[in-house]
Amino acid sequence: MLKIYNTLTKRKEEFIPKSDEVKMYTCGVTVYDDCHIGHGRSLYIFEIMRRYLKHLGFKVKFVRNITDVDDKIINKAREVSLKANISIIEAFDEVRKKYIDSYYKDLETLSIPPADIEPLATENIPYMIDFISGLISKGFAYEREGSVYFSVRKFPSYGKLSGKKIDDLLSGVRIDEDTLKSDTLDFALWKRAKPNEPYWDSPWGNGRPGWHIECSVMSQRYLDTETLDIHGGGLDLIFPHHENEIAQSEAFNGKIFSSYWIHHGLLTINGEKMAKSLGNFVTIKDAVKKYSSLTLKLFYLTAHYRSPLDFNEAKLSEVMSIKRRIKVALYQLRYFKDIYVKDFSYDNIKAIYKKFIDSMNDDFNMPLAFSSLFELMGEINTKSIKEERFFEEAKALLRLILDIFLLPSEVIIKDGAFGLKNSLGKIEEWERDINIEEIEEKIFQRKNLRMEKRFKEADEIRNELLVKGIVLEDLAGGQTRWYPK
Ligand SMILES: [Zn+2]
Repeated sequence: MLKIYNTLTKRKEEFIPKSDEVKMYTCGVTVYDDCHIGHGRSLYIFEIMRRYLKHLGFKVKFVRNITDVDDKIINKAREVSLKANISIIEAFDEVRKKYIDSYYKDLETLSIPPADIEPLATENIPYMIDFISGLISKGFAYEREGSVYFSVRKFPSYGKLSGKKIDDLLSGVRIDEDTLKSDTLDFALWKRAKPNEPYWDSPWGNGRPGWHIECSVMSQRYLDTETLDIHGGGLDLIFPHHENEIAQSEAFNGKIFSSYWIHHGLLTINGEKMAKSLGNFVTIKDAVKKYSSLTLKLFYLTAHYRSPLDFNEAKLSEVMSIKRRIKVALYQLRYFKDIYVKDFSYDNIKAIYKKFIDSMNDDFNMPLAFSSLFELMGEINTKSIKEERFFEEAKALLRLILDIFLLPSEVIIKDGAFGLKNSLGKIEEWERDINIEEIEEKIFQRKNLRMEKRFKEADEIRNELLVKGIVLEDLAGGQTRWYPK
C-alpha cells in the first residue's frame, strides 16, 4: 500500500486515486533561462514517482506545463530587445522559443521522457479568460482599470495549504505598488498590458494572464477533471503559487482542487541557495557535460525527495564510487555464467525486492529503495553457487530485480524504476572509468607469475591494481575475482 506525505494534511496518507487513472500535474519551468540542476531534481523525482505508480499497476496521466508568459520572460525580452535592437514583442517570442528548446534538450540529455502532455500557457489564453470571467461572475474577482484581481477574503479557507492565516499575512505584507487592488492580499488574475509588451485581447482590454491562473486552467483542462489526484512542485511554490491555485480553482468549482499535494525539497550549492547573482548557478547542461547524466541522477537519489540536497565535491565523489560499483556489478553479471557462476540466494533476493517495494511505498523513499540495489550487488559479488536447484529460479528473480532497477523491460517499467539504463551508456564507455580488459589481463599475468613461483612480481601486480582501486580476491580452486575497493 502506497503512502504519500500530503502537504495539505501534513501527514502520510494512503494513496487512493479517484479512478483507475491517476491524474498528476506538476508545475513546469518558466522559460526565461537555461534550467539549473534544481529543476533537474524536480523533473527526475516526479518521473520516478510516475514510473512507480505504473509499477503498482495504475494508469497515469501526467501533465506538466510550460510557463511561457510571465514577468521574468518579459524582463528578459526587454534586455534582449535593447541588445539586438528589435521590439520587445519580437524578443519575447525569441526568448520563449529559445528556452523551450533548451528545456527539451535538457530532458533529452537527462534521458527523462516528457510528461504525457506539456501544454504552453500561450496556447491556453482563451481558457484562462473564461475561467477569470467565471470568477468575476461568481463574485470572487473584480476588475480595476484593465486588470483583474482575486479577492482573497472571499475565499475563507485561504492559507490551508501553507498554514498561513489571512490576518497574519496582512501584517507581514509589504505595501504593494499596485494600488488598484482593494486589498493588499489580493493577487492578479489578469494584468493590463504596459506599453510595448506582448498582450492578448480580453473583455477587460489588452493584457496577459497572471502566473497562478495558468496552472489552475492547464491542469484541469488537460487532465479533464476538477479534482486532480496529485499536484506537485518544489517547496518554494507552496506559497503563494499553490495557495493561489487552490483559491482560484476551489472558488470556481466548489470542489477540492487536488487530493494529494507533493512538494520536494530544494537544492543548494555548497550550502548556499543557487542564484545568478551569487555566481553559483549550475545548469543541467554544464553538470551533464562535467559529470554525466548518470552521476547527476545518482546524486539526486542520495536524498529523500522531501529533504534538502546539497551539491558539493564531497557528495559528488561519493556518487562517483557508487557509479563505479554499479558498473562493475553489471559488467560481472553479463559474464556471470562464463566467469563465476553465482548463486543468488532465493530468499535474499525476495527480501531485496520486498525492501524496494516497502521503501517506495513509504512516501517514495527512493534512497532506501535504491540501496537495496547495493545488497543485490553484494550478492553478485560474494555468493558462489551452492545449491543448483535454486539457480534457475534465482536467476529469473534476479532478472526481475535488474529490470526494475536498471534494465528495460516490456512487462515492468521501461528503462527501470530509476530511469538509469539510458544514462548508463555502453559497456565500452564504462571502460573509461574501469578498464576491465586490462584488469583481466593483469590477473592472467599474475596467475602465470604465481605458477612460476615469482610471488614478488605477482604481488606487485596486486598492489598496482589496488592503487587503481581494484581489489583481487583469490578463491579456492585457483580462480581470482576482482571488485572495486
Ligand atoms: Zn503552477
